[in-house]
Amino acid sequence: MTHPLSVLPSKVESTDNKPWYHQGLRFECTGCGQCCSGGPGYTWVSDNEIIAIADYLKMDPINFVKKHVRSVSGNLALIEKAYLDEKGNEIYDCIFLKDKKCQIYPVRPTQCKTFPWWTQNLHTEKDWEEAATRCEGISKDAPLVDYETIQKQSAKDFS
Ligand code: SF4
Ligand code: SF4
Repeated sequence: MTHPLSVLPSKVESTDNKPWYHQGLRFECTGCGQCCSGGPGYTWVSDNEIIAIADYLKMDPINFVKKHVRSVSGNLALIEKAYLDEKGNEIYDCIFLKDKKCQIYPVRPTQCKTFPWWTQNLHTEKDWEEAATRCEGISKDAPLVDYETIQKQSAKDFS
């Protein structure tokens, strides 16, 4: 499975200037940790996010980078831990996923905070349904998140 955190947002399609989800979408995070695991991918971190996470962990930022960050085509991403599951599939967990919980939750990168409101998940209804196959929080039983809230999240800048 493609790591759900592996693709950065692209542009949202709109019809009559209104995205298809203008009446809101149903989502509530269950904390299952699935979006922090799966196939290999990238959780990008900015310099400011690195400083904030290092501070949260009471680490020197340079040591933090040496230990937890990798460089990918000139950008920085958190390291992953690879292992085989019981079926022999190679799984890649974010370095900060432990017992299905994020160890840096209050200061997790924007990319994590804004999932699943990434534009590639909102592009079409089919994309949203596809995201739902990887995120149990996207459910008809979840609370409705209004359009304005979604827009605020999806408008986040990842640079
Ligand atoms: S996959 Fe969805 S429900 Fe599970 S932790 Fe990630 S955002 Fe929350
Ligand atoms: S930083 Fe936390 S929320 Fe983000 S991928 Fe890693 S474990 Fe998941």
